[in-house]
Amino acid sequence: MCGIVAYVGHRQAHEVIIKGLKRLEYRGYDSTGIALLNGGLNIYKKKGKVSELERFIKDEKLDSHIGMGHTRWATHGEPNDENAHPHYSATKNLAIIHNGIIENYSSLKHELLRKGHTFLSETDTEVFIHFIEDIQENEQCSLDEAVRLALTKVVGAYAIVVMSLNDPDLLIAARKGSL
Ligand code: GLU
Repeated sequence: MCGIVAYVGHRQAHEVIIKGLKRLEYRGYDSTGIALLNGGLNIYKKKGKVSELERFIKDEKLDSHIGMGHTRWATHGEPNDENAHPHYSATKNLAIIHNGIIENYSSLKHELLRKGHTFLSETDTEVFIHFIEDIQENEQCSLDEAVRLALTKVVGAYAIVVMSLNDPDLLIAARKGSL
């Protein structure tokens, strides 16, 4: 369980988020990443220190007023670039960062695989965001309602933030038994 920083406001989101992630470095972590709405919903993530993420993004056009960042302490899947957070949903319209563990991720993953989903990482977290989007599509509901419904079905301790390409001013956060 590691660090989460999210920001929406008038400042440059990546500057606020990177600064926040640095303040959380003392907690220990193996990889870092950020998602920004900078012309699209874009994810930048790397194994290693926040300083490596900074080097990785230094030539990118990061102009954005909303975003979220994560330092990961791997529980599901080895520490590498693919397993680092954030993770996209199937359509790439949603992204998630997550601290904690989804204990019933395996049964949710089997169900989603049966429906044709493919996964880019080994994490419980990627399953979670696919599951949220699947609910949103099936129920034709708002994103916050889909997150709420998804949280009634997951078992575990978590803190999450979800962002959407289609809701440029919205950050959805939830927490249960995890800091
Ligand atoms: N279970 C998630 C993963 O392995 C989140 C780990 C964390 O809390 O950083 O990616």
